Amino acid sequence: MLKIAIHAFVTAAKGLAITLTHLVGARRSRHALDVRKADYFDHQDGVTTVQFPREKMPIPEVARYQLDVEIDDCIVCDLCAKACPVDCIAIEPVKATGVIGKTSDGSVKRLYAAAFDIDMAKCMYCGLCTVVCPTECITMTDQYDRSMTDLSELTYSFAEMTPEEVEEKKREWTKFQAEKEAVKKGSR
Ligand code: SF4
Ligand code: SF4
Repeated sequence: MLKIAIHAFVTAAKGLAITLTHLVGARRSRHALDVRKADYFDHQDGVTTVQFPREKMPIPEVARYQLDVEIDDCIVCDLCAKACPVDCIAIEPVKATGVIGKTSDGSVKRLYAAAFDIDMAKCMYCGLCTVVCPTECITMTDQYDRSMTDLSELTYSFAEMTPEEVEEKKREWTKFQAEKEAVKKGSR
């Protein structure tokens, strides 16, 4: 009986010692540390929570967060949408009647992007879309803290064409095709 009582007392004393250690330690606050530093895990004493968003943890350079698209450099090839395992990229291409410009890496642009939407609520941040992009215009940024109250706001639209411009380009393409057909028929 005495043995059990001593054991219970020692156990309670150990628990109390741990509690007191944390109580005293909590008077100190840890500053946001760079997770890339080798001694990051050596500084776990004191209050270790960060007062977000006033304080932010530094993030690694290779971190995968919100996607961004430099639409001027996009050739609307659809490779990113095809590579996406969760189908969260929706692109609507509109054919142009000729070359419409060049990207910053010199790639020729022949398609307009009538729509280029990414549903970040579905995205699993695998980064595959960024790997397959031939012009490297779809990238993962270091932005991780966009919060929304409406889920639909997590669908980011990168296309810059107005509905009127899209209709006009579609009409131009239809006219171009019709003229081509007429020339073909005339030459038969
Ligand atoms: S990161 Fe992955 S899941 Fe997200 S859009 Fe790109 S391919 Fe799709
Ligand atoms: S892979 Fe790159 S160039 Fe092709 S549609 Fe996607 S973002 Fe545009």
